[in-house]
Amino acid sequence: MMKKIAILGSTGSIGTQTLEIVRNNKDLQVLALAAGSNFLKMEEQIREFRPKLAVMWSGHGAKELRERIKDTDTRVMEGMDGLLEIAVMEEMEVLVAAIVGMIGIRPTIAAIKAGKTIALANKETLVTAGHIIMPLAEREKVALLPVDSEHSAIFQSMQGQPVERVSKILLTASGGPFRGKKRKELTDITVEDALKHPNWAMGKKITVDSSTLVNKGLEVIEAKWLFGVEPEKIQVVVHPQSIIHSMVEYADGGIMAQLGMPDMKLPIQYALFYPDRRPMEGRKVDFFELSSMTFERPDTETFRGLKMAYEAIGAGGSMPTVYNAANEKAVSLFLERKIKFLEIYDLIQGAMEGHKVISEPSIEEILETEQAVYEFIERSWSAKRKTL
Ligand code: NDP
Repeated sequence: MMKKIAILGSTGSIGTQTLEIVRNNKDLQVLALAAGSNFLKMEEQIREFRPKLAVMWSGHGAKELRERIKDTDTRVMEGMDGLLEIAVMEEMEVLVAAIVGMIGIRPTIAAIKAGKTIALANKETLVTAGHIIMPLAEREKVALLPVDSEHSAIFQSMQGQPVERVSKILLTASGGPFRGKKRKELTDITVEDALKHPNWAMGKKITVDSSTLVNKGLEVIEAKWLFGVEPEKIQVVVHPQSIIHSMVEYADGGIMAQLGMPDMKLPIQYALFYPDRRPMEGRKVDFFELSSMTFERPDTETFRGLKMAYEAIGAGGSMPTVYNAANEKAVSLFLERKIKFLEIYDLIQGAMEGHKVISEPSIEEILETEQAVYEFIERSWSAKRKTL
Protein backbone atom coordinates (compact mmCIF):
# COMPACT_ATOMS: atom_id res chain seq x y z
CA MET A 1 0.00 0.00 0.00
CA MET A 2 1.29 3.43 -0.94
CA LYS A 3 1.71 5.89 1.93
CA LYS A 4 0.98 9.42 0.78
CA ILE A 5 2.92 12.25 2.33
CA ALA A 6 3.43 16.01 2.00
CA ILE A 7 6.51 17.95 3.08
CA LEU A 8 6.48 21.53 4.31
CA GLY A 9 10.07 22.79 4.04
CA SER A 10 11.13 20.29 1.35
CA THR A 11 14.23 22.22 0.25
CA GLY A 12 15.73 22.40 3.75
CA SER A 13 17.92 20.03 5.71
CA ILE A 14 15.05 17.90 7.09
CA GLY A 15 13.07 18.21 3.85
CA THR A 16 15.85 16.90 1.60
CA GLN A 17 16.63 14.05 4.01
CA THR A 18 12.95 13.12 4.00
CA LEU A 19 13.09 12.95 0.21
CA GLU A 20 16.13 10.67 0.44
CA ILE A 21 13.98 8.30 2.48
CA VAL A 22 11.27 8.51 -0.17
CA ARG A 23 13.90 7.55 -2.77
CA ASN A 24 14.75 4.46 -0.75
CA ASN A 25 11.18 3.37 0.01
CA LYS A 26 9.14 2.81 -3.10
CA ASP A 27 5.86 2.67 -1.17
CA LEU A 28 6.07 6.36 -0.19
CA GLN A 29 4.43 8.84 -2.53
CA VAL A 30 4.93 12.60 -2.35
CA LEU A 31 1.66 14.44 -2.91
CA ALA A 32 2.83 17.96 -2.15
CA LEU A 33 5.95 19.99 -1.41
CA ALA A 34 6.38 23.49 0.02
CA ALA A 35 9.35 25.83 0.40
CA GLY A 36 10.13 29.51 0.95
CA SER A 37 11.87 30.98 -2.07
CA ASN A 38 14.26 28.38 -3.49
CA PHE A 39 12.43 27.70 -6.74
CA LEU A 40 15.45 26.10 -8.43
CA LYS A 41 15.68 23.31 -5.88
CA MET A 42 11.90 23.00 -5.91
CA GLU A 43 11.96 22.55 -9.68
CA GLU A 44 14.45 19.67 -9.33
CA GLN A 45 12.30 18.08 -6.64
CA ILE A 46 9.15 18.39 -8.74
CA ARG A 47 10.85 16.77 -11.72
CA GLU A 48 11.99 13.87 -9.59
CA PHE A 49 8.97 13.32 -7.31
CA ARG A 50 6.07 14.60 -9.43
CA PRO A 51 3.87 15.98 -6.64
CA LYS A 52 0.33 17.16 -7.42
CA LEU A 53 0.88 20.48 -5.67
CA ALA A 54 3.92 22.67 -4.99
CA VAL A 55 3.78 25.77 -2.82
CA MET A 56 6.27 28.61 -2.68
CA TRP A 57 5.91 31.11 0.15
CA SER A 58 7.28 33.92 -1.97
CA GLY A 59 5.15 35.29 -4.80
CA HIS A 60 8.25 35.77 -6.93
CA GLY A 61 9.33 32.16 -6.30
CA ALA A 62 5.90 30.87 -7.29
CA LYS A 63 5.91 32.92 -10.49
CA GLU A 64 9.34 31.68 -11.51
CA LEU A 65 8.42 28.11 -10.65
CA ARG A 66 5.17 28.19 -12.64
CA GLU A 67 7.09 29.30 -15.70
CA ARG A 68 9.76 26.61 -15.29
CA ILE A 69 7.51 23.64 -14.72
CA LYS A 70 4.85 24.45 -17.30
CA ASP A 71 5.52 21.11 -18.96
CA THR A 72 4.60 19.11 -15.80
CA ASP A 73 1.23 18.33 -14.18
CA THR A 74 2.17 19.95 -10.86
CA ARG A 75 -0.01 22.84 -9.75
CA VAL A 76 1.77 25.79 -8.11
CA MET A 77 0.32 27.89 -5.30
CA GLU A 78 1.82 30.55 -3.05
CA GLY A 79 1.76 31.89 0.51
CA MET A 80 -0.35 30.75 3.44
CA ASP A 81 -3.27 29.74 1.19
CA GLY A 82 -1.00 27.21 -0.46
CA LEU A 83 0.32 25.81 2.83
CA LEU A 84 -3.22 25.45 4.16
CA GLU A 85 -4.32 23.72 0.97
CA ILE A 86 -1.55 21.13 1.41
CA ALA A 87 -2.55 20.60 5.05
CA VAL A 88 -6.01 19.37 4.12
CA MET A 89 -5.34 17.47 0.86
CA GLU A 90 -7.74 14.59 0.89
CA GLU A 91 -5.48 11.65 0.12
CA MET A 92 -2.54 12.91 2.20
CA GLU A 93 -1.83 10.74 5.27
CA VAL A 94 1.33 12.16 6.83
CA LEU A 95 2.37 15.79 6.92
CA VAL A 96 6.08 16.35 7.50
CA ALA A 97 6.21 19.75 9.22
CA ALA A 98 9.76 20.96 8.58
CA ILE A 99 9.48 24.66 7.83
CA VAL A 100 11.76 26.73 9.99
CA GLY A 101 9.97 29.34 12.13
CA MET A 102 6.42 30.03 13.23
CA ILE A 103 4.89 30.00 9.72
CA GLY A 104 4.33 26.27 10.22
CA ILE A 105 1.84 26.62 13.07
CA ARG A 106 -1.34 27.35 11.13
CA PRO A 107 -0.87 24.60 8.53
CA THR A 108 -0.05 22.12 11.29
CA ILE A 109 -3.25 23.01 13.14
CA ALA A 110 -5.26 22.69 9.91
CA ALA A 111 -3.74 19.26 9.24
CA ILE A 112 -4.54 18.03 12.76
CA LYS A 113 -8.13 19.19 12.34
CA ALA A 114 -8.25 17.28 9.07
CA GLY A 115 -7.11 14.13 10.92
CA LYS A 116 -3.64 13.85 9.37
CA THR A 117 -0.69 12.23 11.12
CA ILE A 118 1.99 14.83 11.81
CA ALA A 119 5.71 14.09 11.59
CA LEU A 120 6.86 17.11 13.54
CA ALA A 121 10.31 18.60 13.03
CA ASN A 122 9.44 22.25 13.48
CA LYS A 123 10.18 23.14 17.11
CA GLU A 124 8.37 26.46 17.23
CA THR A 125 4.96 24.81 16.91
CA LEU A 126 5.05 23.15 20.32
CA VAL A 127 7.29 25.70 22.00
CA THR A 128 4.85 28.53 21.35
CA ALA A 129 1.51 26.76 20.98
CA GLY A 130 1.88 23.47 22.87
CA HIS A 131 -1.13 24.36 25.03
CA ILE A 132 -3.27 24.53 21.87
CA ILE A 133 -1.71 21.76 19.77
CA MET A 134 -1.56 18.93 22.34
CA PRO A 135 -5.22 19.03 23.45
CA LEU A 136 -6.26 19.45 19.82
CA ALA A 137 -4.27 16.40 18.70
CA GLU A 138 -5.76 14.40 21.54
CA ARG A 139 -9.29 15.49 20.69
CA GLU A 140 -8.82 14.69 17.00
CA LYS A 141 -7.03 11.42 17.87
CA VAL A 142 -4.13 12.41 15.68
CA ALA A 143 -0.59 11.09 16.19
CA LEU A 144 2.11 13.73 16.63
CA LEU A 145 5.30 11.84 15.82
CA PRO A 146 8.51 13.61 16.79
CA VAL A 147 11.23 13.98 14.16
CA ASP A 148 13.73 15.79 16.33
CA SER A 149 16.33 13.12 17.18
CA GLU A 150 16.11 13.59 20.97
CA HIS A 151 12.32 13.50 21.05
CA SER A 152 12.25 10.55 18.73
CA ALA A 153 14.68 8.78 21.10
CA ILE A 154 12.47 9.56 24.09
CA PHE A 155 9.41 8.39 22.17
CA GLN A 156 11.19 5.16 21.15
CA SER A 157 12.28 4.63 24.77
CA MET A 158 8.66 4.88 25.89
CA GLN A 159 7.32 2.18 23.57
CA GLY A 160 5.74 -0.60 25.60
CA GLN A 161 6.51 1.16 28.90
CA PRO A 162 3.98 2.52 31.40
CA VAL A 163 3.97 6.31 30.90
CA GLU A 164 2.82 6.94 34.47
CA ARG A 165 6.04 5.30 35.70
CA VAL A 166 8.36 7.74 33.96
CA SER A 167 10.46 9.39 36.65
CA LYS A 168 12.85 11.43 34.52
CA ILE A 169 13.64 12.32 30.95
CA LEU A 170 17.36 12.53 30.24
CA LEU A 171 17.72 14.76 27.22
CA THR A 172 21.18 14.48 25.74
CA ALA A 173 23.11 17.39 24.22
CA SER A 174 26.36 17.34 22.26
CA GLY A 175 27.39 20.59 23.94
CA GLY A 176 28.00 22.21 20.55
CA PRO A 177 31.27 23.51 19.13
CA PHE A 178 32.12 25.69 22.17
CA ARG A 179 31.72 23.10 24.90
CA GLY A 180 34.25 23.69 27.68
CA LYS A 181 34.80 27.34 26.79
CA LYS A 182 34.13 30.12 29.27
CA ARG A 183 32.36 33.38 28.64
CA LYS A 184 35.44 35.50 27.94
CA GLU A 185 36.52 33.05 25.24
CA LEU A 186 33.19 33.50 23.49
CA THR A 187 33.25 37.27 22.99
CA ASP A 188 34.79 37.16 19.53
CA ILE A 189 33.11 34.07 18.12
CA THR A 190 32.48 34.48 14.39
CA VAL A 191 29.58 33.21 12.30
CA GLU A 192 31.91 30.63 10.75
CA ASP A 193 32.93 29.30 14.20
CA ALA A 194 29.29 28.95 15.25
CA LEU A 195 28.34 27.12 12.06
CA LYS A 196 30.87 24.32 12.69
CA HIS A 197 28.81 21.74 14.53
CA PRO A 198 30.90 18.77 15.72
CA ASN A 199 28.37 15.98 14.98
CA TRP A 200 25.27 17.09 13.10
CA ALA A 201 24.80 18.72 9.67
CA MET A 202 21.74 20.98 9.96
CA GLY A 203 20.22 24.27 8.80
CA LYS A 204 22.07 27.48 9.79
CA LYS A 205 19.68 28.74 12.45
CA ILE A 206 19.53 25.47 14.35
CA THR A 207 23.33 25.10 14.14
CA VAL A 208 23.79 28.47 15.85
CA ASP A 209 21.09 27.46 18.35
CA SER A 210 23.12 24.35 19.16
CA SER A 211 26.17 26.46 19.88
CA THR A 212 24.25 28.71 22.32
CA LEU A 213 22.31 25.76 23.89
CA VAL A 214 19.10 27.61 23.01
CA ASN A 215 18.34 24.61 20.80
CA LYS A 216 18.45 22.41 23.90
CA GLY A 217 16.25 24.92 25.72
CA LEU A 218 13.68 24.74 22.93
CA GLU A 219 13.87 20.94 23.13
CA VAL A 220 13.18 20.95 26.86
CA ILE A 221 10.04 23.03 26.24
CA GLU A 222 9.04 20.75 23.35
CA ALA A 223 9.55 17.63 25.51
CA LYS A 224 7.37 19.05 28.27
CA TRP A 225 4.47 19.30 25.80
CA LEU A 226 5.03 16.13 23.82
CA PHE A 227 5.42 13.84 26.81
CA GLY A 228 3.42 15.75 29.44
CA VAL A 229 6.37 15.79 31.84
CA GLU A 230 7.10 18.68 34.21
CA PRO A 231 10.30 20.62 33.43
CA GLU A 232 11.88 19.61 36.79
CA LYS A 233 11.79 16.04 35.51
CA ILE A 234 13.67 16.88 32.32
CA GLN A 235 17.41 16.82 32.82
CA VAL A 236 19.87 17.85 30.15
CA VAL A 237 22.99 15.68 30.01
CA VAL A 238 25.92 16.69 27.84
CA HIS A 239 27.12 13.69 25.86
CA PRO A 240 29.67 14.91 23.28
CA GLN A 241 29.70 11.74 21.13
CA SER A 242 25.96 12.08 20.25
CA ILE A 243 25.45 8.31 20.22
CA ILE A 244 22.80 8.15 22.92
CA HIS A 245 20.05 10.34 21.52
CA SER A 246 18.15 10.57 24.84
CA MET A 247 16.93 8.35 27.65
CA VAL A 248 13.96 7.77 29.92
CA GLU A 249 14.32 6.76 33.55
CA TYR A 250 11.47 4.82 35.17
CA ALA A 251 10.27 4.58 38.77
CA ASP A 252 12.32 1.42 39.44
CA GLY A 253 15.54 3.14 38.32
CA GLY A 254 15.62 1.31 34.99
CA ILE A 255 16.68 3.48 32.07
CA MET A 256 15.68 2.96 28.44
CA ALA A 257 17.77 4.69 25.79
CA GLN A 258 17.94 4.89 22.03
CA LEU A 259 21.38 4.80 20.46
CA GLY A 260 22.57 5.19 16.91
CA MET A 261 24.85 7.17 14.64
CA PRO A 262 24.03 10.89 14.53
CA ASP A 263 21.89 10.83 11.38
CA MET A 264 18.49 12.50 11.13
CA LYS A 265 17.31 9.96 8.58
CA LEU A 266 16.61 7.42 11.32
CA PRO A 267 14.16 9.59 13.31
CA ILE A 268 12.55 10.85 10.08
CA GLN A 269 12.07 7.32 8.77
CA TYR A 270 10.82 6.10 12.15
CA ALA A 271 8.14 8.83 12.13
CA LEU A 272 7.11 7.98 8.56
CA PHE A 273 6.69 4.24 9.22
CA TYR A 274 5.95 4.17 12.96
CA PRO A 275 5.76 1.63 14.58
CA ASP A 276 7.75 -0.29 11.94
CA ARG A 277 11.54 -0.18 11.77
CA ARG A 278 12.41 -0.27 8.12
CA PRO A 279 15.92 -1.31 7.05
CA MET A 280 18.25 1.61 6.40
CA GLU A 281 21.64 1.82 4.71
CA GLY A 282 24.49 3.67 6.38
CA ARG A 283 27.05 3.36 9.13
CA LYS A 284 26.01 1.59 12.31
CA VAL A 285 27.46 2.12 15.78
CA ASP A 286 30.66 0.13 16.28
CA PHE A 287 31.25 -0.03 20.04
CA PHE A 288 34.87 -1.15 19.68
CA GLU A 289 35.67 1.84 17.51
CA LEU A 290 33.72 4.15 19.82
CA SER A 291 35.42 2.73 22.94
CA SER A 292 33.94 5.32 25.33
CA MET A 293 30.94 7.50 25.92
CA THR A 294 31.25 10.46 28.26
CA PHE A 295 28.79 12.66 30.12
CA GLU A 296 28.92 16.13 31.66
CA ARG A 297 26.70 18.63 33.40
CA PRO A 298 25.76 21.53 31.08
CA ASP A 299 27.51 24.83 31.87
CA THR A 300 24.42 27.01 32.20
CA GLU A 301 26.39 30.02 33.49
CA THR A 302 28.31 30.35 30.23
CA PHE A 303 25.57 29.02 27.94
CA ARG A 304 22.71 30.98 29.45
CA GLY A 305 20.30 29.89 26.72
CA LEU A 306 19.34 26.72 28.57
CA LYS A 307 18.69 28.42 31.90
CA MET A 308 16.52 31.04 30.19
CA ALA A 309 14.40 28.26 28.66
CA TYR A 310 13.56 26.90 32.13
CA GLU A 311 12.71 30.46 33.19
CA ALA A 312 10.46 30.82 30.14
CA ILE A 313 8.55 27.60 30.90
CA GLY A 314 8.36 28.61 34.57
CA ALA A 315 6.69 31.90 33.58
CA GLY A 316 4.53 29.95 31.10
CA GLY A 317 1.84 31.36 28.77
CA SER A 318 3.37 33.62 26.13
CA MET A 319 6.90 33.64 27.63
CA PRO A 320 8.24 30.67 25.60
CA THR A 321 7.09 32.56 22.48
CA VAL A 322 9.17 35.53 23.62
CA TYR A 323 12.16 33.29 24.27
CA ASN A 324 11.84 31.72 20.84
CA ALA A 325 11.08 34.89 18.86
CA ALA A 326 13.83 36.89 20.56
CA ASN A 327 16.29 34.13 19.79
CA GLU A 328 15.14 33.86 16.17
CA LYS A 329 15.65 37.58 15.61
CA ALA A 330 18.92 37.71 17.55
CA VAL A 331 20.33 34.75 15.60
CA SER A 332 19.46 36.38 12.31
CA LEU A 333 21.22 39.59 13.43
CA PHE A 334 24.22 37.48 14.40
CA LEU A 335 24.20 35.67 11.03
CA GLU A 336 24.07 39.10 9.34
CA ARG A 337 27.13 39.99 11.45
CA LYS A 338 25.27 42.85 13.12
CA ILE A 339 25.67 41.64 16.71
CA LYS A 340 28.22 39.61 18.62
CA PHE A 341 27.67 36.02 19.71
CA LEU A 342 27.07 36.75 23.41
CA GLU A 343 24.62 39.54 22.57
CA ILE A 344 22.19 36.82 21.47
CA TYR A 345 21.68 36.07 25.18
CA ASP A 346 21.41 39.75 26.14
CA LEU A 347 18.69 40.32 23.57
CA ILE A 348 16.69 37.28 24.69
CA GLN A 349 16.99 38.33 28.32
CA GLY A 350 15.98 41.92 27.54
CA ALA A 351 12.92 40.76 25.59
CA MET A 352 11.85 38.37 28.38
CA GLU A 353 12.31 40.99 31.10
CA GLY A 354 10.19 43.49 29.18
CA HIS A 355 7.30 41.09 28.54
CA LYS A 356 4.02 40.89 30.43
CA VAL A 357 2.86 37.27 30.28
CA ILE A 358 -0.44 36.39 28.59
CA SER A 359 -1.50 33.18 30.33
CA GLU A 360 -3.29 31.12 27.63
CA PRO A 361 -2.38 32.94 24.41
CA SER A 362 -4.45 32.31 21.27
CA ILE A 363 -2.66 31.80 17.94
CA GLU A 364 -3.32 35.49 17.14
CA GLU A 365 -1.81 36.54 20.47
CA ILE A 366 1.19 34.29 19.88
CA LEU A 367 1.78 35.85 16.47
CA GLU A 368 1.29 39.37 17.90
CA THR A 369 3.75 38.59 20.69
CA GLU A 370 6.26 37.36 18.12
CA GLN A 371 5.86 40.59 16.13
CA ALA A 372 6.20 42.77 19.24
CA VAL A 373 9.40 40.93 20.19
CA TYR A 374 10.87 41.37 16.70
CA GLU A 375 10.16 45.09 16.90
CA PHE A 376 11.57 45.34 20.42
CA ILE A 377 14.81 43.70 19.30
CA GLU A 378 15.03 45.81 16.18
CA ARG A 379 14.64 48.94 18.36
CA SER A 380 17.19 47.81 20.97
CA TRP A 381 19.65 46.99 18.24
CA SER A 382 19.22 50.32 16.41
CA ALA A 383 19.40 52.27 19.68
CA LYS A 384 22.61 50.51 20.59
CA ARG A 385 24.12 51.12 17.16
CA LYS A 386 23.42 54.86 17.48
CA THR A 387 25.28 55.07 20.79
CA LEU A 388 28.38 53.38 19.35
P1 NDP B 1 16.45 24.71 6.90
O1 NDP B 1 16.76 26.14 7.11
O2 NDP B 1 17.49 23.81 6.34
O3 NDP B 1 15.16 24.57 5.96
C1 NDP B 1 13.99 25.31 6.16
C2 NDP B 1 12.95 24.94 5.12
O4 NDP B 1 11.78 25.74 5.34
C3 NDP B 1 13.38 25.21 3.68
O5 NDP B 1 12.77 24.29 2.83
C4 NDP B 1 12.79 26.61 3.44
O6 NDP B 1 12.61 26.92 2.06
C5 NDP B 1 11.47 26.43 4.13
N1 NDP B 1 10.82 27.70 4.46
C6 NDP B 1 11.38 28.76 5.13
N2 NDP B 1 10.46 29.73 5.26
C7 NDP B 1 9.33 29.27 4.66
C8 NDP B 1 8.04 29.82 4.46
N3 NDP B 1 7.74 31.04 4.91
N4 NDP B 1 7.12 29.07 3.81
C9 NDP B 1 7.42 27.83 3.35
N5 NDP B 1 8.62 27.26 3.51
C10 NDP B 1 9.56 27.98 4.17
O7 NDP B 1 15.92 24.18 8.30
P2 NDP B 1 16.01 22.70 8.91
O8 NDP B 1 15.56 21.70 7.91
O9 NDP B 1 17.31 22.54 9.59
O10 NDP B 1 14.92 22.79 10.08
C11 NDP B 1 13.51 22.79 9.84
C12 NDP B 1 12.79 22.70 11.17
O11 NDP B 1 13.11 21.45 11.77
C13 NDP B 1 13.21 23.77 12.19
O12 NDP B 1 12.11 24.16 12.95
C14 NDP B 1 14.24 23.05 13.04
O13 NDP B 1 14.28 23.57 14.37
C15 NDP B 1 13.70 21.65 13.04
N6 NDP B 1 14.71 20.61 13.24
C16 NDP B 1 15.77 20.46 12.40
C17 NDP B 1 16.74 19.50 12.61
C18 NDP B 1 17.88 19.30 11.67
O14 NDP B 1 18.67 18.36 11.86
N7 NDP B 1 18.06 20.10 10.66
C19 NDP B 1 16.66 18.60 13.77
C20 NDP B 1 15.47 18.78 14.54
C21 NDP B 1 14.54 19.75 14.30
P3 NDP B 1 13.77 27.71 1.20
O15 NDP B 1 14.83 26.70 0.97
O16 NDP B 1 13.07 28.09 -0.03
O17 NDP B 1 14.20 28.85 2.05
